[in-house]
Amino acid sequence: AEDALRQAQKMESLGQLTGGVAHDFNNLLQVVVGNLEILRRNLPEESGRLRRAAENATTGANRAATLTQRLLAFSRRQPLAPQPIDANRLVTGMAELLARTLGETIHLETVQGAGVWRVEADPNQLEAAILNLAVNARDAMPSGGKLTIETSNTHLDKSYAAEHAEVPVGQYVVVSVSDNGSGMTKETLAKAFEPFFTTKEVGKGTGLGLSMVYGFVKQSGGHVKIYSEIDEGTTVKIYLPRLMGETPEETAAAEAIVPEGS
Ligand code: ADP
Repeated sequence: AEDALRQAQKMESLGQLTGGVAHDFNNLLQVVVGNLEILRRNLPEESGRLRRAAENATTGANRAATLTQRLLAFSRRQPLAPQPIDANRLVTGMAELLARTLGETIHLETVQGAGVWRVEADPNQLEAAILNLAVNARDAMPSGGKLTIETSNTHLDKSYAAEHAEVPVGQYVVVSVSDNGSGMTKETLAKAFEPFFTTKEVGKGTGLGLSMVYGFVKQSGGHVKIYSEIDEGTTVKIYLPRLMGETPEETAAAEAIVPEGS
């Protein structure tokens, strides 16, 4: 438990550090992108090379902006738009995107818990988090395998809370993403959530995928945990607090609304 506390404090200070930098950087990049746009629009038609140079600069600046936004997600400085979500529906709505991401050699299985509670979170960010986990799973199974996404209800009790710093006791919905790929070494597992930590080749990994997942989950009042065994595979469990205080009528009314993208 002490290790967990130390780990949580480390993540907290990393978040503050990167959050400040990313925030300022993001603002500066907006200035760059805005001015490049003015430049590009006022360049004469015939100056093809200059236009291309301005376009390349814009592409680079936009890429940098994407990186800083992912850092903001880690540092929990990202504006979220939480709303009640049915995790089963959200996962179902991602089927096509996931199939495309995983390719033909990876089999996708979804196991939907019955009566899964609703959660309050930003659906776009939850999708992004699941997608990041799927991309990691794919990269861990270069010669194919199986990805399982499972939803369920659970209660995190006192003994779990004692083992995991900063996890409030309570009822949670679990979204579990498992692969039977390479697994992680102890060293990788210890650093996996840190921004810019990657074991992937330059250009392949940014080391921001799990950081984004971590930041989003924390910002949503949840918890995330990785279980991994070398050559066996990896399971990442996202816990999001159950949405409380709904009357049965409200639940029924909300269930009648089909969320965007499904
Ligand atoms: P990136 O994917 O860009 O490297 P992440 O933050 O998503 O960044 O992941 C950090 C590291 O954690 C990866 O480089 C990899 O070593 C390890 N990792 C993440 N997910 C998995 C997985 N499902 N199986 C094995 N290793 C993983």
